[in-house]
Amino acid sequence: MAGIDLTGLSTVYPNGVRAVDDLSLTVADGEFFALLGPSGCGKTTLLRTIAGLEQASSGSVGIGGADVTRVEPGRRRVAMVFQDYALFPHMTVAQNIAYPLRVRRASRQEQQEAATRTSAGLGLASLLDRRPAQLSGGQQQRVALARAIAMEADVLLLDEPLSNLDARLRLEARTFLKRLQRELGLTTVFVTHDQAEALALADRIAVMSEGRIRQLGSPKEVFQRPVDTFVANFIGSTPMNLLPGEVSGGLVEVAGARLKPPAGLDLPDGTPVTAGIRPEYLHLTSGDGITGTVSIVENLGVTSLVTLECPGPVLVGLTVAEQDEPAIGTTVTATPEPGRLLLYDGETTQLLGEAKVDT
Ligand code: ADP
Ligand code: MG
Repeated sequence: MAGIDLTGLSTVYPNGVRAVDDLSLTVADGEFFALLGPSGCGKTTLLRTIAGLEQASSGSVGIGGADVTRVEPGRRRVAMVFQDYALFPHMTVAQNIAYPLRVRRASRQEQQEAATRTSAGLGLASLLDRRPAQLSGGQQQRVALARAIAMEADVLLLDEPLSNLDARLRLEARTFLKRLQRELGLTTVFVTHDQAEALALADRIAVMSEGRIRQLGSPKEVFQRPVDTFVANFIGSTPMNLLPGEVSGGLVEVAGARLKPPAGLDLPDGTPVTAGIRPEYLHLTSGDGITGTVSIVENLGVTSLVTLECPGPVLVGLTVAEQDEPAIGTTVTATPEPGRLLLYDGETTQLLGEAKVDT
C-alpha cells in the first residue's frame, strides 16, 4: 500500500506545451482521489507522469514514501487503466488478465489462478476464452480493471474508465468501482471530466485547469464552497447562478434585489461582485428576495428547474418540488437559504469571505 506525493511537478512536451504546471499534491494511502477538469487541462498527462510514461520536466513523484521520479514505469508498482482500455486484441480475456504475470515470468499455473481469482469478482468468469472484440464496452472495461488488479500494484490510475459506457452501464460501473476500491483498499487516482461522477465517487477532488489545481477538497467543499467562479461554473448538474452585482449601503444589489451579504463580510459601496447561488439553495417565498417572471419550467424527475427572467436583465434558475411548480408567466420571488449566498470578487473571480460547508 502506498500514498502519492507530487512536489512542484511540471511536465512540458517537446512542442513547449506545459501540460502540468508546478503542481503539488498528496494522495493518502487507500484514498479514492478524483482529478476533475475540462478537456485539455492536463489530467491524462498528470496520470502518465505518475505512472512514469511521461518524464517529469521538473519536480518529483513519490510513491509509498520513495522518490520514483527517475524510476522506470515497470518498477513503480502502479497500474493504469487507459481511456480506451488498451486490451490486446489477439489475446483471450484470460491471457489479457494474466499478462502482467506473464511479463514477470510467473508460472502458467500462477497465471491461470490470477485470471480465475480476479475474474470471478468482476463477473468475467464465463468470458475467459473470448477475445476483446467479442465483448461489450462494459465487459472490456472490467477486463482492463481485472488486468490492473492482477498486477497487484500499490496504486491504481484510472483515466476516464467509464467514458465509453452508456448512461445506465456507467452508473452500475461506478458503484461497482467504488465497492471494489474500498474492498481492495487501493490508492486510486480517478480522472474524469464528469463532475457528477467525481462528486459521487471520490473521497477528495482536485479541480484542474491549465495544468494547475484550482481547488482541492472534499466533494461537499467543492460543491458548497467553490473558491472561484471557474470551479463554481464547473461543478453542479444544474449550473450555479452567477449574477453580476454591486455592493450598496451594505447590501448586495443583484438581479433587481437587495440581499444581505454573507456574515462577517464588510465591503465598501461600489465593490463589483458576482453573486453565486445554486438553484438547489433558492426557494420560493412571499418575503424579500429575487423577483422575476417564470419563463421556463423543466422537469428533472423529482424536482423541476424553474428559470426566472429578472431585472438586469438576468436569468435566475431555482429548483422546486414538482408539486410546487409555478405557472409560466407568473411573477414569483425566490430567496437564498441562509448561509448559501456566495460572493465572488467581480474582477479577480475569487471567493470573498467564508462560506458554509455541511459536515
Ligand atoms: P486532458 O487529459 O485533461 O484532456 P491532456 O493531458 O491530454 O489533457 O493534455 C494537456 C495538454 O497537453 C493539452 O494542451 C494537449 O494538447 C497537450 N498534449 C497532450 N499530449 C501531448 C503530446 N504528446 N505532445 C504535445 N502536446 C500534448
Ligand atoms: Mg485525457
